[in-house]
Amino acid sequence: SVQHQVVVVGGGAAGITVAAQLLKKNKQLDVAIIEPTDKHYYQPAWTLVGGGVYKALDTVRDEKDYIPDSATWLKDYVAKLDPDNNTVITQEGKRICYEYLVLAPGIQIDWHLVKGLKETIGQDGVCSNYAYEYAPYTWELIKNFKDGNAIFTYPNTPVKCGGAPQKIMYLADDAFRKQGIRPQSKIMFCTAMGVIFGVKEFAEKLLSVVERKQIDVRYKHNLKEIKADTKTAIFDVLTDSGVEEVAIQYDLLHVTPPMSAPDFIKQSKLALPDGASQGWVNVNKYTLQHNVYPNVFSLGDVASLPTSKTAAAVRKQAPVLVHNLLALINSKNLTQKYNGYSSCPITTGYGKVVLAEFGYDNKLSPTFPIDPTRERYSMWLLKKYGFPYLYWNIMLKGYPL
Ligand code: FAD
Repeated sequence: SVQHQVVVVGGGAAGITVAAQLLKKNKQLDVAIIEPTDKHYYQPAWTLVGGGVYKALDTVRDEKDYIPDSATWLKDYVAKLDPDNNTVITQEGKRICYEYLVLAPGIQIDWHLVKGLKETIGQDGVCSNYAYEYAPYTWELIKNFKDGNAIFTYPNTPVKCGGAPQKIMYLADDAFRKQGIRPQSKIMFCTAMGVIFGVKEFAEKLLSVVERKQIDVRYKHNLKEIKADTKTAIFDVLTDSGVEEVAIQYDLLHVTPPMSAPDFIKQSKLALPDGASQGWVNVNKYTLQHNVYPNVFSLGDVASLPTSKTAAAVRKQAPVLVHNLLALINSKNLTQKYNGYSSCPITTGYGKVVLAEFGYDNKLSPTFPIDPTRERYSMWLLKKYGFPYLYWNIMLKGYPL
């Protein structure tokens, strides 16, 4: 078995940022990152890929260029966690021991939980921006749309970037208008939720956007099956008298699949104890330290933080985690607190973004001293050019933000 002082599981937005910041603060630390893939993706731009204004290839870079120089890269999947022995076990059967563990393996996309989805995704009108390989097909469908039903779904689980399922719908509406086919098309948002957005101020704004765009919103509609032969989407609809099955024919179906914590997290002692939740890592929502195993920390999509799962949230979580982990290493108190900040740039059309920023308890948390609920061209520029630049050059390199 191998031993490292700090082991980081996952080299995505959260894992790389934490490792880079730790090593910027203390070059002597022995940090290992366990990450199986050669590529690193800037996922927030997949919305723009699906909208036809960003190249898929521009969202991917080589992981090796973002592993901090003095960190050790262990190229493997973690398969099992054994926190009582401070050990993680990889798919290849290697045992890696740690003094401190940072869990950042992201969220698992449960394609298999919608019947027929794995068989239909990427063809015959079924698309999703939630994977690098499928996002370009979303644009193929929008670009070639002639008439009929375009349906956009939202599942009954937490997802990463809760705004993304609607962002692509607003871009599709705008594209259809430019193509002159909006009158022949019907756009529907079929969401398992009972509201359009969790934060009241932005929900009000988005309700005015769907009204302006004449989008048909169906609440409490949970996609459960796709029948490719008849191009039908089957929903479980929650009504006052129970669950009712509703079938809707589609010409374009953009699916936001159900999501949960990766299975190896769910099956471990580090997940929340109540089996009904999606198996997130059980951390203190302010310090990001594990509630049972003090030498374990977690952040990003996998952590049990009651806020929206975004890269923007990771940006604010990482410095808190790093500060508290270094405090623990130096036997000091954990004094830094994460306030739940998250942000979702909602594209309401080409050249238009509402930058939704909020913290715990849905408290507004705007960066700029301007009305945050307005659709702005400046925020579109930030989304398309500013944020990707910040991500690759500042955040992943461990500079403070
Ligand atoms: P990830 O960045 O997903 O990284 C997880 C890493 O863990 C991956 O590299 C993976 O290979 C690795 N891993 C997985 N399993 C294992 C294992 N068993 N062992 C070891 N490593 C493993 N965020 C925003 O801030 N703004 C947006 O506008 C926005 N839009 C989005 C739109 C879409 C379509 C999508 C898909 C996401 C969007 N996000 C957005 C969300 C953002 O991408 C995530 O919240 C962010 O990447 C979370 O970081 P993470 O490190 O927790 O997970």
